[in-house]
Amino acid sequence: MRRISAVLSVRLHSLVAGAFLAVLPLAGLADQTPAPKAPAVPPFEVAKLGPRTWVGRFGTSNCGWVEIGGGVLVIDTGASKQDAANLQAEIKTSTGGKPVKWVVLTHLHSHANTGLPSFVPAATALYVHASLAANMEAVVTRMAAGGNAPKVVGVKQSAVISDGGQSVEVFASKGPASTGADLWVFASEARAAFVGDLAVTGRCPSMVDASCDPPAWMAELQRIGNKKPSVLVGSLGDTSTAADAELAATRAYLERVFRIAKETRQNGFPEVRLSSKLSTVEKVGEYCSPKADTTNGLAIYRRMGNDGILKSGPDPQPPAGVKP
Ligand SMILES: [Zn+2]
Repeated sequence: MRRISAVLSVRLHSLVAGAFLAVLPLAGLADQTPAPKAPAVPPFEVAKLGPRTWVGRFGTSNCGWVEIGGGVLVIDTGASKQDAANLQAEIKTSTGGKPVKWVVLTHLHSHANTGLPSFVPAATALYVHASLAANMEAVVTRMAAGGNAPKVVGVKQSAVISDGGQSVEVFASKGPASTGADLWVFASEARAAFVGDLAVTGRCPSMVDASCDPPAWMAELQRIGNKKPSVLVGSLGDTSTAADAELAATRAYLERVFRIAKETRQNGFPEVRLSSKLSTVEKVGEYCSPKADTTNGLAIYRRMGNDGILKSGPDPQPPAGVKP
C-alpha cells in the first residue's frame, strides 16, 4: 500500500540532516579517526496534508493539527510531556503562532494522550466521546489547578468546527468500536481522516481493549470510508493515501478474528484450538504476526459467552499520564 511518508514532502527536523552529516566518514581519515558521535535525532517528523492541515509523528504516535480561522485544532497530544512540547513547537512554526483553541482526543490510551496536561491551560474546548465527558471534566478542572479549564464537549454523534472556509467534523463511534470511546476527525480541506486506533495503517490492529467490539468497529470503518478520505491517519503507523485499501484490510482482519473466536467459543473448543486456527489454518498473509493474532483472538474469546455475545468492559478511564 502506498503511504505518504514516501510521497509527500515529509520534513524531518533539521537536526536529522545534521545527524546524517555527522556520521559520514572523511576520506582517508576514516581508519584513524573515531567516528563522531551522532547527535540525538529528535523523535518526530511532520508532513503537510493540505494548505492548513498537518500531521506529525511524535515518538510512536501520530498527532494532527488544523488551522481554523484564527485558531488551531489539535488531534491527540502525544505520549509524553516531551512529545507534547515538540508538537506545540511544530504547531507554532507551521501556523505562525496561532493559538490552540480546540483539542480532540480520539481515545484515551496513554500512547495517544499523555501530553494532554500541556494543552489544558490554553485550549478553550476539549472534545471527547460523550461517555467520557463527566470524568474528563473533573480531570481537566484539577489539571487547570484553579486556572481556566477548557470546556469539555462530549460528542454523542458529531460536531462541526468551522471558520474561514475550513471545516472539521468530529464523529463519535456509534458503538464501543476499538476502545469503547472512540472519536475520529474529518478535515474537509485536505480530505484527511484522523481515526485514532480505528485504523492503524500498515500495522496490526489491537483488539485487547476491554471494551473492544469488532462488529461495531467494522461499522465505524464503513462510516469513515463513506467520507471518501484522500488521506488516512491512524494513531500509529504511516499515513496512507490508500484509505479504501487500509480500511478494507482492517475490516477483513477484525471480521476474521471475531468469526474464529465466535466459532471456537460456540463449539465449546478450548483456547489452544483458537490459537492454531488463527496462526496456521486461517492465517491471512503477514498482516499480523501469529503472536499478535493469538493475543487478539484470546482477548475476544475470553470476553465472549457461549452464545457468542461479548461481555462489556469497564468504563474507559483516562490514561495514567492524564490523571490528576
Ligand atoms: Zn491507542
